[in-house]
Amino acid sequence: MLEEKEAKRRILEAASPGAVTWIPLELTLDQILAQEITGTIDSPPFDNSSMDGYAVRAEECQTGDSLKVHEEVQAAGLDMGLDLKAGEAIRIFTGAPVPIGADAVIMQEDVLREGDRITIVEGVVEGENIRRRGGDVCAGQKLLGRGDIMTPARIGLLASQGIAEVAVHGKPLVQVVTTGDELVELGAPLLMGEIYNSNSPMLQTAVTRVGGIAAASHAYDDPDELREVLGAALATADIVVIAGGVSVGEKDFVKEVLEALGVKTEFWRVKIKPGKPFVFGRHPDGTLVFGLPGNPVSAFVTFHVFVAPVIRRLLGDSPEDAAKGTGNTSVVLDEAVENTGDRPHYFRGRIENGKLRLSGTQQSHAIFGLSRANCLLRLDPGEKLEEGAAARVILI
Ligand code: AMP
Ligand code: MG
Repeated sequence: MLEEKEAKRRILEAASPGAVTWIPLELTLDQILAQEITGTIDSPPFDNSSMDGYAVRAEECQTGDSLKVHEEVQAAGLDMGLDLKAGEAIRIFTGAPVPIGADAVIMQEDVLREGDRITIVEGVVEGENIRRRGGDVCAGQKLLGRGDIMTPARIGLLASQGIAEVAVHGKPLVQVVTTGDELVELGAPLLMGEIYNSNSPMLQTAVTRVGGIAAASHAYDDPDELREVLGAALATADIVVIAGGVSVGEKDFVKEVLEALGVKTEFWRVKIKPGKPFVFGRHPDGTLVFGLPGNPVSAFVTFHVFVAPVIRRLLGDSPEDAAKGTGNTSVVLDEAVENTGDRPHYFRGRIENGKLRLSGTQQSHAIFGLSRANCLLRLDPGEKLEEGAAARVILI
């Protein structure tokens, strides 16, 4: 049985970032930049007013001074090229370009207006209420680096630069293939002995959440059907994630069918709990294949430990960042936890107010406990963590 660390190393070694594609800025949320981005223009692109008020010369604008209001108004929009004469003020609004000759803007609340004159109630100093060209970003300045993750605020930043398309690594297509004669589609009646296919929607959405594009298919425990379904999956997907059928049962045909389809098994069975039956294989055309245990909790845990990092890697994460998995944070234990087994154990836990408790029964079919968990806590064989100890967890 392969050590978990070695399994992870070999899996990540087989993966490299997908092809670079240029996509519309609005579609880049959560994706990883494949390019460095520098400022194309100064931002703001011109000196402009941060207030509704009057553009003035600060030296003519002390308490008690009186100024004549210019007949034209400079609102936000095209620069009218207005020229501020001595003794005058020009009506101006937020975001509007500052007229030639003005060196400050006085807020409208700080003047008294009577007809075409204003009297200054509270004076201004040079530069007041003017947002300077390039005050936020200068053309040529580095804004984002390769590997940075796109957030709404970063999308806003690039939009302010007029950048319409961005280079990212294409999202991998991940085909989730469930297997099993006992599985029934949601909504259909259950006969004795049957169960609903919970792995399919669970894994598809887990794929989506880490950034892949998910598709799904199902095969009964029949080698011919498996061959057809897996053949189609291999032909289209970047990653094939199979749930069930990889154990040693008489109806576990996945491994032999994969081999018949040209997939080379890199390893199967990894020292981890839950999730011992686990297959990693590669097709000569580059498709990566994962066979997860059918038990929902085991499938979920092995997906997060082994598959999620690969999806992140294909999206452009560095191997080190990818290996950390889906969010990696530090918590304090609210109860002691011990791994009495001989494999690394991923406990399902729930963090509340920064403190972690185990989430219900830890059996590998117990999906209710899993549903209440928001993190996975890994303990080495024989490791015990006391209440109050700090630990790192994977967020789920
Ligand atoms: P297997 O790995 O195929 O031997 O399956 C192990 C256990 O997981 C069995 O109890 C299966 O019924 C269950 N199982 C397999 N696939 C699924 C699935 N897609 N949804 C829910 N349970 C499953
Ligand atoms: Mg099965």
